[in-house]
Amino acid sequence: MKHYKIASIPADGIGPEVIAAGLQALEALERRDGGFSLDVTAFDWGSERYRRTGALMPEDGKEQLKGFDAIFFGAVGAPDVPDHVTLWGLRLPICQGFDQYANVRPTRILPGIESPLAGVGPGDLDWVVVRENSEGEYSGHGGRAHRGFPEEVGTEVAIFTRAGVTRIMRYAFTLAQARPRKFLTVVTKSNAQRHGMVMWDEIAAEVALEFPDVTWDKMLVDAMTVRMVKQPRSLDTIVATNLHADILSDLAGALAGSLGIAPTANIDPERRFPSMFEPIHGSAFDITGKGIANPVATFWTASQMLEHLGEPAAAARLMQAVEAVCESGIKTPDIGGNATTREVTDAVCEAIRASNI
Ligand code: NAD
Ligand code: MN
Repeated sequence: MKHYKIASIPADGIGPEVIAAGLQALEALERRDGGFSLDVTAFDWGSERYRRTGALMPEDGKEQLKGFDAIFFGAVGAPDVPDHVTLWGLRLPICQGFDQYANVRPTRILPGIESPLAGVGPGDLDWVVVRENSEGEYSGHGGRAHRGFPEEVGTEVAIFTRAGVTRIMRYAFTLAQARPRKFLTVVTKSNAQRHGMVMWDEIAAEVALEFPDVTWDKMLVDAMTVRMVKQPRSLDTIVATNLHADILSDLAGALAGSLGIAPTANIDPERRFPSMFEPIHGSAFDITGKGIANPVATFWTASQMLEHLGEPAAAARLMQAVEAVCESGIKTPDIGGNATTREVTDAVCEAIRASNI
């Protein structure tokens, strides 16, 4: 029997609701599979802790997480705490502290879920967005001068390194190579941004030589949004910078039906540190406490976590259960149903128990 140590950080808003649902599904998988067990430790980090102590996570937080096999994260953000404080106080220190440089965001239309795109159904939209997760526009560099005066200046510096771009490019080409279509789209904005973005294009062309069996093309990020909407079938694997992929993957989630189904994995491909798995969505204040948060994104990222841990059978079983439940019409309101988080979760657990793959 294999044992995995999981750190759960439910954090804010609907985070605790969807993480509880995810843990319930993981327990059902554990019982159904019998070959592994998950030892889950919960951390009460987040905005509530910030209000009490002035910090979202303890100073030695990274040290505390180091020994875990994976981190299962909810969402962070509260109406009374500035968003840059919550993001830089918890999520980014973990991603950057553990050098989780590959952010992997699969998107496809699940059976029973409708895309806002007319005539686009399951099979027509099956993408993986790879987001550079360690540098670029979110490197945290910049500053403000003459604060509050008419001549005030604010800078937000994007930093791209050859090492950083090369490793994410290799990761994306490798992922594209493993998918049936072996096709990668590299997104930049190298017409207007003529330094780091041109370097992206050059490094893409260099790394492409290592993957002769992968077909690839280039897009400017603005045109890419149009292609995603107009020609979803023309895309497969996508790689973009931290900022660009952040935006494109939210769009991808919406085109696949709802932000409530979109998962993400923050991966350290070298496995020096724990990787972190979370739904893409935020803390969703508007529905917090109502019991209607869609748990599908969290189930999907739990499946990514199992895959990463080396439990592909359980990962597949979970996605199969999720798809069966979506198809049966047991859905939360954001995807056109009237089920609660609990009803969807119970149905997924039941499908896991009944599954025979
Ligand atoms: P959000 O993702 O929280 O919500 C956007 C919209 O999508 C809302 O209408 C919400 O109800 C809906 N939605 C999101 N997840 C859903 C789910 N699982 N089921 C059903 N509906 C869902 O984004 P926002 O409103 O821009 O941000 C709210 C807070 O979350 C902010 O503080 C923001 O900084 C934070 N945030 C955190 C993360 C993160 O932790 N990774 C990501 C994005 C936003
Ligand atoms: Mn985002």
